Amino acid sequence: MAPAARVKIKGLYGLPTKRTPVTPAVLDMLAGFFQQHKGRVLGLTGAGVSVPSGVPDYRGTNGTYRIHGEYTPILHHELVRQHASRQRYWARSFFGIRPAFKAEPNPIHYAFARLETKGFLTGLITQNVDGLHLLAGSQNVLELHGTLRHVSCLNCGYVESRDAFQHRLEELNPEWTAFWQTMARSGKEPTRRPDGDVDLPPNLRYEDFKYPMCHRCHKGHFMPTVVFFGGNVADSVRRQSYDMVDQAQALLVCGTSLATFSAYRLVKHAREQGKQVAIVNFGQTRGDGDATVKIEVPAEELLPPVARILGL
Ligand SMILES: [Zn+2]
Repeated sequence: MAPAARVKIKGLYGLPTKRTPVTPAVLDMLAGFFQQHKGRVLGLTGAGVSVPSGVPDYRGTNGTYRIHGEYTPILHHELVRQHASRQRYWARSFFGIRPAFKAEPNPIHYAFARLETKGFLTGLITQNVDGLHLLAGSQNVLELHGTLRHVSCLNCGYVESRDAFQHRLEELNPEWTAFWQTMARSGKEPTRRPDGDVDLPPNLRYEDFKYPMCHRCHKGHFMPTVVFFGGNVADSVRRQSYDMVDQAQALLVCGTSLATFSAYRLVKHAREQGKQVAIVNFGQTRGDGDATVKIEVPAEELLPPVARILGL
């Protein structure tokens, strides 16, 4: 594939620059990328893929925190060490997890699932923690920054579903549960302030929020199974991500500015091996200088029609 759509970009990552017109030639170029490397294309996805699903941006992992605005992401060590930080995190998450779990896969997720089923795609590495690729039917998915669908004990490693954990939070915090039910009946959600806090009624305070200890070891605290800002991708996950790149012939980066090093280093790794890297993202990325092809459009305008061109 000729590097016809390569765009040279300066400035901050993530800002839209020059939109690539979605012409039949651009669609054919990406379809050709899949045909040329059929069965050996690895996808690397990020937040842009879940935006059309309305996934809220509160998650606070190092792949998704907001750079602009007043929102400060919670740090890994704060959650591990500080009771007050855990209270605040679980109280916010008590509300935030519900809309997150209501989100459904969108046409980009389904296009990726079909590309894998029909043998074009070898698998996916995603920075998203929403589990939507798996819900859409993708099989070989590595969740680089973990998933919000589970929690695990910091002491013994016991893993529990976030759903089950939510029920235990509800039982421990009946006043919070009543507040949520009142809001839900009125069709509203608690108002979120720019710093990520929630507007609470006067009888509720973060300092009163209760969260359970691990019921297996009775010593440890639970954490969501995600990589927080200041935390590290587990060695086993990092190795697996490199293995997936090693086994692929080409990399398709989609819906991510590659701002996190854990994702960007995979692009570097692929290029060091001389592999082709195509980037589909509306906004510049850290990997633009490494891309064989850069297509500057939101992924939802490209992946579904390309899947159709390939007969999927
Ligand atoms: Zn435990």
